[in-house]
Formats: sequence, C-alpha cells, structure tokens
Amino acid sequence: MSVSNGRAFLAIPGPTTVPDEVLRAMHRPAIDLYSGDHLELTQGLLADMPKLFRTTGRAYIYASNGHGAWEAALANVLSRGDKILTLPSGIFATGWGDVAEAMGAAAEALPGDWHSPVDPQKLEDRLRKDEAGEIKAILVAQVDTASSVANDIAAIRAAIDAAGHDALLLVDAVASLATMPCEMDAWDVDVAVTGSQKGLMTPPGLSFVAANDKARERRRMNANLVTRYWDWTFRDGNEHYMKYCGTPPEHLLFGLRTALDMIFSEGVANVIERHRILADAVRAAVERWVEGGALSFNITDPACRANSVTTVRTNGFNPKALLDYAREKCGVTLGIGIGGTEDTAFRIAHMGHVNAPMVLGTLGVIEAGLKALDIPHGKGGVEAAIDSLSQAVKP
Ligand SMILES: *Cc1c(COP(=O)(O)O)cnc(C)c1O
Repeated sequence: MSVSNGRAFLAIPGPTTVPDEVLRAMHRPAIDLYSGDHLELTQGLLADMPKLFRTTGRAYIYASNGHGAWEAALANVLSRGDKILTLPSGIFATGWGDVAEAMGAAAEALPGDWHSPVDPQKLEDRLRKDEAGEIKAILVAQVDTASSVANDIAAIRAAIDAAGHDALLLVDAVASLATMPCEMDAWDVDVAVTGSQKGLMTPPGLSFVAANDKARERRRMNANLVTRYWDWTFRDGNEHYMKYCGTPPEHLLFGLRTALDMIFSEGVANVIERHRILADAVRAAVERWVEGGALSFNITDPACRANSVTTVRTNGFNPKALLDYAREKCGVTLGIGIGGTEDTAFRIAHMGHVNAPMVLGTLGVIEAGLKALDIPHGKGGVEAAIDSLSQAVKP
C-alpha cells in the first residue's frame, strides 16, 4: 500500500520547489533579444541581484549551474599558478578548490571537519604565516549543503583583517542567498556566487556572480585565467547580447523575474525569518528523534546549523530504507547524504518555496517512516515542531 498520490513534495537541497507563478511566467513564446522588453528585463535583473547580495558592486548572470559560477569567479580574479586557500566544512569549498586546480591554480585546504564551521582563529594563524602574500584568494561556502553548517562570514573576514592579509574573499552563497542573511558589503566579501535553483526558487540553469570594486580591479590588472564566456569586462560592454555573451536564457530569466518579485514582495527580511522559523521547527523535531540514539545532528553546535538544510546522521543503519519509504509510500523526496555519507546520513531541505504544511508534512512522513521501519527514535518530533512553530508564529 502507498499513500503517495497527490502533490509530490521535494525536500532536497536543490533543485527546490518551483512556485506555480514562476512556472507560469516561463510559459510564453521567446522574445526578440535586441528590443525594448528584453533590455528592460535585463536592466531590472542586473539592478535587483546586487540588492539580494547586499552589495553596491556588480552582478553578472550566466547560463550555467553553480559550478559555472565557481568557474566564473575564479577565472576573473586568478592567474595561472596563483595559490588559493580553501576553508572546508563539508564538501563544497573543496569542490570549488578542485575547479581552481583544474584551471591552473594551486589549492591548499585549511584543515577542517564535517561537524563544525570554519575556525577563524586557524585561518588567522595560517594567514599570518603567509608573509610573502602568496595566497591570492580564500574560498568558503557560507552554507555547506553536505554538512548543513552555516559559516560565520563576518568572523572569517575579521580573521583575514586581523592577519593583515590582502587575499580576496570568495563566498559560495548557493545554499544561503535568500535563506539566511548575506551581507556582501558589510562583511567585505569580494566575490559571492549563487545559483537559481535553491533559495531563488527558479529552475536550474542560471547562476550569478557578484563582484566588488577590488575584485573587478583584479580582473583588469592581472587575471590571466579568464576566457571570453566568463569575462566580466566583456559583459560590462554596452551591447545587450554582451550581458549574456550571446543569446540570453530568456525563459529562465522570465521565471527569475517572477521569483524575485515574490521575494521582494514578501520582503527579504521576512523570507529569511520564514526560513529561520521553519528550520527551528525541523530542528525541534530532530532534537526529539535523536533521543532514541539511532539518529544525530551532523552539526554539533546548535548555533552553527544552517536554516536551509539539516543533515541528519544515522548511527549504524543505512538511511536508504527510510528515504525509499518517504518517497515511494508517502510522496516526499528527502536528500541523500553526499560526499561519502550516502550510507550514513540523509538531509531535510527547508529552502526556497517552503511553508508550514510542507515542513510539517515532511516531518510527519519522516516520523511515520521511523515508526514503520522500527528505527529507534524519541517520540513526539512533529509535536515538538508544532510547539516551536506555534511559539514563533502568533495570531
Ligand atoms: C548546490 C550547490 C552548489 C553547486 O551547484 P550546481 O548548480 O549543482 O553546480 C555549490 N555550492 C553549494 C553550497 C551548493 O549547495
């Protein structure tokens, strides 16, 4: 027996649920790429993306996924042989560093682990040793979607400044933009990247890079890794086709326009607060379940858990049966563990177009699965989530 028919829930950390409004906005004919409507669309998007990143710098839009944005950021600020420092706290900073290596940079990783955020003191100590200033860029994920840690970017910037180091700070905000505060200018982030398919509620296929003046100056002075498609200077050109280095990904842009309108009409601060409240409800449920001993939070310190995704470790059992139960029997697709945790973790995404019934429904299905599969767990997880919600959301 299965009760999965009905609207399927996608509780994976990207691609996330695309709102019907966004899908509808894409359901239209292509338009001329040289005329008024399209120019206006582009102008609006290029003006609005920096508002989301909270920067007075520029934003660039690429027809690519997040990996493309990684490459775009690196290509514009690095030269062959440049040394970079990655700050691992899961898999994504390392993945970004691998891309840099493949492009001709030399990557070093600051030792880190999967259960805690980047340690700013360790970073400061490492940078103080780099007296020759060999490290040209520092790469970190604000939220690492594998471990579900939330890194403190302001503290990381403070560590760089305390060491008096001149490296650029490059931040992967793919799983944090429009889900947690992202203060590019206030935190003095030089380059930030994101993708369309997570907090931005748009289908996969667009990515964004925001760059401040210091980063754009690097591009002009000496970045010799750059190729035409990623090149900011070319994209700063006046012709409309230059903004995309060719035909714009029109339908994704139609969808993005509607998604941004939805985010701005809710209010960015409210969007972030909604994510916090829903994440608190998820954490309240998991807190209860872990009492049974078979599950645990991947991130040890409650203050360092992301508001967009929660990674749950399974102690001594493979989560596959639980994920299969949720999907096949109940219609909820949960995230698998990634980066070597496929057999020891699963992930609950609460990112983008999510509300209380989606989160409560997902938690209810997980709890039903824990019961049906006889996985030891503390009872009352959903009730704890309801308590948390009812305290946060008042009449
Ligand atoms: C999803 C994700 C990426 C990669 O994005 P793709 O679109 O899959 O290339 C990079 N960084 C983080 C933190 C992510 O969550």
